[in-house]
Amino acid sequence: GSLSSLAQPMEKISVAVRFRPPAAVDPSPDRIWKVDDNRISLHRPLGTPISGVNFAFDYVFDPSYSNAMVYDLLIKSIIQAAIDGFNGTAFAYGQTSSGKTFTMNGSEEDPGIITLGVKDVFRRIEMVCDPTCFLARVSYMEIYNEEINDLLSFGNQKLPVHESLERGIYVSGLREEIVNCSEQVIELLKLGEANRHFGETNMNARSSRSHTIFRMVIESSARDSMKCGDVSNADAIRVSVLNLVDLAGSERVAKTGAGGARLREGKHINKSLMILGNVINKLSESGKQRGHIPYRDSKLTRILQPALGGNSKTSIICTVAPEEVHVEESRGTLQFASRAK
Ligand code: ADP
Ligand code: MG
Repeated sequence: GSLSSLAQPMEKISVAVRFRPPAAVDPSPDRIWKVDDNRISLHRPLGTPISGVNFAFDYVFDPSYSNAMVYDLLIKSIIQAAIDGFNGTAFAYGQTSSGKTFTMNGSEEDPGIITLGVKDVFRRIEMVCDPTCFLARVSYMEIYNEEINDLLSFGNQKLPVHESLERGIYVSGLREEIVNCSEQVIELLKLGEANRHFGETNMNARSSRSHTIFRMVIESSARDSMKCGDVSNADAIRVSVLNLVDLAGSERVAKTGAGGARLREGKHINKSLMILGNVINKLSESGKQRGHIPYRDSKLTRILQPALGGNSKTSIICTVAPEEVHVEESRGTLQFASRAK
């Protein structure tokens, strides 16, 4: 059976804000974001701060931070914990075009945290005792209009979420591929992208309106932990779940006069991001006042529940577009980030 009761105090959620580089030079911006260490404030061009727009986070990454640096500071510890048997989840939250996918998937020159994380998992497994005692499986799914699609299988399948005593909460019918090396995972990610984009006339539109969950499940057997000197759990198989999530764009859709399908998508996105915010906000409150955590109110939080809260490690990267035209959306993102602290 799985051993989920490893005692470790619940850790607070790490919250980072990341500014992407400006897409073009703003000719004469009326307001400018300033980053000072882990603080963010909004200023007039002559330097006067705009009162009431002042935030502090665990980390603030200006555009000089590469994905590798973000990974080292924020994600590496989640990966290490996953190898040690703890669940973990990392999110990228922000409006469309703010850098979520760049952060998660990266580019050729600057691989994203999924690739860096997967490579680290295999590197660390090789470092620990006996690699044959580890089993890693990956799945890749999207939630689009509150419907779950398996990105490793072809077509729209609308998979149901189930719950059972043995398996806990799971997505029924989801393909889980056993993987032995990072190259294999990278191929699966490519397959996922290809499946998602099939039949889409506007690829960006679809990906900005869906949540994408990359999941890795790592099992390690007792044989290994005995070799490591931990004989107390001789019968145990440790199972940890790692979720790396590229969220739907957080921009408010309704105000732009969207109708029909777009409006429906927008409502689903706003609702599920709001519920995610509520769940994270509850988790960041200290134990006693916390009360009911509304995991069941959306597919996203339901699927992530086992690796969100409890003994899990959680990081949120809120991505921000620095341009003046995006100031209001950026304030919304920073407010979301503040609620998670
Ligand atoms: P999102 O997924 O939030 O819609 P993207 O990740 O697609 O946004 O980013 C929008 C554009 O900005 C892309 O062309 C991306 O390559 C670029 N970009 C985003 N973040 C960075 C960064 N930190 N450094 C360099 N380019 C970035
Ligand atoms: Mg994206």
